[in-house]
Amino acid sequence: MNPPRHFALIPAAGVGARMGTGSPKQYVPIAGKPMLLHVLDTFAASKIITHTFVVVNAEDHNIRDVMAGAPHLADRVTIIFNGGATRHVSVLKGLQVLSDHADADDWVLVHDAARPGLTTDLIEHLAESLRDDSVGGLLALPVVDTLKRGGGDRRVQATVPRSGLWAAQTPQMFRYGMLRKALEQVDDVTDESSAIEALGLQPKLIEGSPRNFKITLPQDVLLAELYLKGLA
Ligand code: C5P
Repeated sequence: MNPPRHFALIPAAGVGARMGTGSPKQYVPIAGKPMLLHVLDTFAASKIITHTFVVVNAEDHNIRDVMAGAPHLADRVTIIFNGGATRHVSVLKGLQVLSDHADADDWVLVHDAARPGLTTDLIEHLAESLRDDSVGGLLALPVVDTLKRGGGDRRVQATVPRSGLWAAQTPQMFRYGMLRKALEQVDDVTDESSAIEALGLQPKLIEGSPRNFKITLPQDVLLAELYLKGLA
């Protein structure tokens, strides 16, 4: 039997409203190139990734320019013009296309376009850590801050014990067959792990890195540039 392959799936059909930029946030330039291109180059540079699939909106006006400027990615990346209304739906649409390429036991690494700080070392650490795992798992960081639950008036209602709490990152890596079944069975979820958990399974937490944070606000771009230029 052939060893399972590793496919990357990048949902990139969001609008990134909190960034306040004209174009969707995955195209905001960071350290000289669009955010999404950092992610595509990292997966293309990883020796364990067979192929990368990217899901964008049907009316996306930016991706063709990005790919035209990156001919080295032409046979490493497939663009799917079929984004959904939520991240969950965009991932499912990508998985439908993957059915022509992936076997049920192949691994799929789902990664946010908005996390350009990912490295090949992190990808390979995740894959190696889960190589013999029956469920799969995700990069995540232990929570270090003291956590407060705020009310509508922004007054503290409770202090939430942080012991055992992790902040989920991506990639989240699961077997193709299990992931598709899980996402088809749940209502909207914000990550793949939640869908696998709904099957009664327990994904494994693999320690990620602060540099793999998700860009959400305009000021996040400066921090990402420090990481990507090797200054942080
Ligand atoms: O908005 P947020 O940062 O949570 O989005 C996480 C990822 O999901 C981004 O890469 C974004 O482009 C993607 N997304 C998507 N389809 C949507 C909403 C978000 O592919 N409808």
